[in-house]
Amino acid sequence: MLDNNYYVYKKEVDWSVLQQGVSIPVTIQVVFQNTINKFLPRGKSKDIYLVLEGLTYKARLVNQKFDERKYPNRKDILQIRYHPQSEIAERLRSIFAASYRYILEQRNSLPENQRKFIKVPEEIKEYLAIYTTEYPDTYLLECITQEDTRIIKETMVHEDEQEYEASINYNTVDPNATIAAVNQIVKIRKLNRAIGESLKLLYNYRCQICGENISARYGVNVVESHHINPFVESLNNNSENQVIICPNHHRIIHRARPVFDRRKLIFVYHNGVEERIILNRHLQ
Ligand SMILES: [Zn+2]
Ligand SMILES: [Zn+2]
Repeated sequence: MLDNNYYVYKKEVDWSVLQQGVSIPVTIQVVFQNTINKFLPRGKSKDIYLVLEGLTYKARLVNQKFDERKYPNRKDILQIRYHPQSEIAERLRSIFAASYRYILEQRNSLPENQRKFIKVPEEIKEYLAIYTTEYPDTYLLECITQEDTRIIKETMVHEDEQEYEASINYNTVDPNATIAAVNQIVKIRKLNRAIGESLKLLYNYRCQICGENISARYGVNVVESHHINPFVESLNNNSENQVIICPNHHRIIHRARPVFDRRKLIFVYHNGVEERIILNRHLQ
């Protein structure tokens, strides 16, 4: 299924998602960027279709114009836009009712100039995942609600990090998946895998620590995504919590459990050895 669905973006639900659309920063989304650049020049927009829970909704895709002399290195700013009264906006408000309620309450208690800074607290955050489909102007939306996160949290307590990561990297079956949580597991694993695969492409299957793709000489690409803060504990599949490393480094890291210094981008091992991330295009 994932072979046809490339990752576009994982967006935290905010007022904009519930009212008018999503801005997509084109950073790690290599495939999306390549297709879009070919078909939608800067300053142009086009009709697109959004598929959500099996139903299709109309929206616009905009490649925003900006002053290229002022921002010569800026990448395209793409936006999926819809009207606040459109069916898709209404559907999203109903699915993300918890976020909608929270933001509405906050908005009512804040002066207008502070409203755009409203952030949903970490514990109750919800997400919208966007994927391409086999049809060029059709995008698949998947909602990750508070309830999904609650169910996943319960399931992940019993999960082993290495087994979970293997299930993402190699699409193996999750031994602990219970029937009740299967939809949530599939949905979140798909997103996790899509973000990981997108990062692998970004690094052209090279290890961020050794800088090599040692598998390439055998005609294959074997590289893995590792979660800096274990996913089974953090439930964090954001790209900033993933590094792309070779299987050797991955095994060693799980066995030796180095500390990751996020500021210096260095793994510090308990015997004093330090290893730096030498390829970095997505960690800040
Ligand atoms: Zn390596
Ligand atoms: Zn790992």
